[in-house]
Amino acid sequence: MSSPRAHDVLILGGGNAGLSLAGRVRRDGCRDVAVVEPKDVHQYRPLLSYVASGMATLADLSRPQDDVVPDGVRRYRSPVVSVDGERSIVHLADGTELGYGDLAVCPGSEVDWDAIPGAREAVGTPSASTSYLPELAAKTWAMLSALTSGRAVFAVASRHVPCFPVGLKPLFVATDHWRRTGVLDAIDVELVVESPRLVDDPRAERELLAAAQEYGVRIRTSTTVESVDATDRTARLRTPHGVDTTHYDALYLAPPHRAPGWIAQSGLATAESDGFVAVDPGTLQHRTFPRVWGLGDAAAVDAMPSGGALRRQVPVVARNIQARRKGTAMQQYDGYSVAPVTTSRSELLLAEFDRERRPEPTTRLVDLARPRRSLLLFDRYLQPPIYWRRLLQGKVS
Ligand SMILES: Cc1cc2nc3c(=O)[nH]c(=O)nc-3n(C[C@H](O)[C@H](O)[C@H](O)COP(=O)(O)OP(=O)(O)OC[C@H]3O[C@@H](n4cnc5c(N)ncnc54)[C@H](O)[C@@H]3O)c2cc1C
Repeated sequence: MSSPRAHDVLILGGGNAGLSLAGRVRRDGCRDVAVVEPKDVHQYRPLLSYVASGMATLADLSRPQDDVVPDGVRRYRSPVVSVDGERSIVHLADGTELGYGDLAVCPGSEVDWDAIPGAREAVGTPSASTSYLPELAAKTWAMLSALTSGRAVFAVASRHVPCFPVGLKPLFVATDHWRRTGVLDAIDVELVVESPRLVDDPRAERELLAAAQEYGVRIRTSTTVESVDATDRTARLRTPHGVDTTHYDALYLAPPHRAPGWIAQSGLATAESDGFVAVDPGTLQHRTFPRVWGLGDAAAVDAMPSGGALRRQVPVVARNIQARRKGTAMQQYDGYSVAPVTTSRSELLLAEFDRERRPEPTTRLVDLARPRRSLLLFDRYLQPPIYWRRLLQGKVS
């Protein structure tokens, strides 16, 4: 048997995590880096919230994949179907087998429609939508902006949802729009949040609750959407007090996510990691296979998944690959994550926190947890070019 082609560092998934790590490892001097990424179009997913808020288009967030893969990094186009951690081999759908010195597993997560029976059917109707799928993001704003009376229900899950508080962006931009167009009083706005809090930063939480109160939004926390009936336009809710049903004229969903099935089928998950890559949340090293690393939305890192979290995770994995090879001390990821949330069409706040819910602001010069116009302009217009030109090239810190 011939041995498979091998790469010094092999990365599964060329999204935010995979390309940032590829760029970083290349910049650190590794000459043989390869990425497996089947999608020919790379999307900057944070802008999906702005598409769903009528403030961006899909074209604004899309670039040809080959234009953004860092120079010198080889790309494989066939998707991964399994990983053999014992033999250190990755199997691709086209039959290719790849070996590796170190392997980074970062294929992201996917919407889990099975977790909410009826939700998939509902988003196929004009009365329900989500910003979490590119094909539905523009429809979300069409639905919300067309509403002039009735009940709008915004349901934000937290089960593995990437950066779940950004599910509040369409809510606050829509309520601002309804107020400006004089129909807010005719719309009953209900926010259903699975988490006990809107966001894991007490100061940002206070600001968001104040904004919601100003718009007259009714909030239910610790409440899960159990199922949706698209015909009756109702959602069945599991609240701390029992089961309830709510009617909707417009339903926005930030739906639960799950890991790609091949992670667990390849033995890279454990019962505790719920199908996600079982890594040490500090070092990001796999719990069973020391040459395997996990980061991004696909990894069980005991912190809220977000693009901002990758600014900390990518350098940790890059350095720990070196540390493992040299036998030196490893670095730790502290669970930092970030959620930028609009409070209107013109203002945004930034919630930054670690895995203990301790605020971890990037700067103390200004209070980023207060809504500001400058923050919205940064998030909408400056962050995307930074993503394309710097973050994806591994210039992450
Ligand atoms: C609507 C929305 C809004 C968001 N807003 C924000 C925000 O404002 N701020 C923020 O910090 N974060 C935000 N996020 C979260 C952020 O986008 C993610 O945390 C980040 O993209 C995670 O990067 P990743 O590389 O782990 O996953 P992804 O970016 O999903 O990339 C995974 C890649 O793996 C590839 N892949 C999948 N399966 C396979 C396979 N079998 N073989 C090979 N490749 C595979 C996919 O094609 C994809 O390119 C948002 C996310 C969404 C969906």
